[in-house]
Amino acid sequence: MAYSEQVLRRARERLEQAKAERERENDAHRREAYRRYPRLEEIDRELRQTMTQLMATALRQGEDPAQAIAAIREKNLALQCERDWILEAGEFEEGYLDETPVCTKCGGSGYIGSQMCDCLRELCRQEQKKELTSLLGSGQETFETFRLDVYPDAYDPKLGTSPRQLMKSNFNICRKYAQNFGEGSGSLLFSGATGLGKTFLSACIARQVADRSFSVVYDTAIRLFSDFEAEKFGAYAEENRGLSRKYFECDLLIIDDLGTEMTTQFTISALYHLLNTRMMENRATIISTNLADNEIENRYNPQIASRIIGTFRLVQFAGEDIRRR
Ligand SMILES: [Zn+2]
Repeated sequence: MAYSEQVLRRARERLEQAKAERERENDAHRREAYRRYPRLEEIDRELRQTMTQLMATALRQGEDPAQAIAAIREKNLALQCERDWILEAGEFEEGYLDETPVCTKCGGSGYIGSQMCDCLRELCRQEQKKELTSLLGSGQETFETFRLDVYPDAYDPKLGTSPRQLMKSNFNICRKYAQNFGEGSGSLLFSGATGLGKTFLSACIARQVADRSFSVVYDTAIRLFSDFEAEKFGAYAEENRGLSRKYFECDLLIIDDLGTEMTTQFTISALYHLLNTRMMENRATIISTNLADNEIENRYNPQIASRIIGTFRLVQFAGEDIRRR
């Protein structure tokens, strides 16, 4: 899971906050317990002392420490026992003084060795969803809310089928893709005129794949290229370094409306570099565009056209604009 730096940073901040919050809670519990039972504070202090004694005795050289250690153990047990009785008498809730960390698996660091812990992964997933929601809006686009009935049912000789049948097949391709998304998932090309549901279906895929804990970046071609440009030429190029990294590293990249951007030599080479790198690293990309195959070739270059047309699965959208319905 290659989450973007921004997502990872926000997730880590939330974990830090949760950890600090839990520590404050633990502190407050301890203070409250000590206030009600000052003897508890004494016991805790003595328990710490017996631990130190135990270590010192075990390390002492020359004499047999077994007897001394046994005595310390006994004292320790007696203190523990007294502590338990006080806690029980005080009717503290279970685990009140256990100082449980915010995550018992990683202690709140977010990592177990070099592996990301489930707690941090879940926060990344949530942050990723928030970021997508800010781009996609309130969250209307889901496979459940997709309406097939707005597409005409009448046979269209140009399509060789009805628009509704065509969309049904597109819908099934997209839903299956999102359900089975994983390593080695191929790339998709959504081709067809505006207003046929390309953006809706790509947003459905984005939501579901992100929900399954994959990192998803969804953006219009215009914004994507403006990030590349800001990184390279912007007034704050230094600050914007790394702005394009998320497009390279996410598990699924969705580029909406390719072809609506101002195409320049720079955007062409950025696009080639991006698509080529993602392909070499076996990362999936979805492109939606109004451009036909030959227009892709004319607008960009034969290398880009052959990357897209040769390796992306074509999902053809056709019919008339359904936004008027
Ligand atoms: Zn954890």
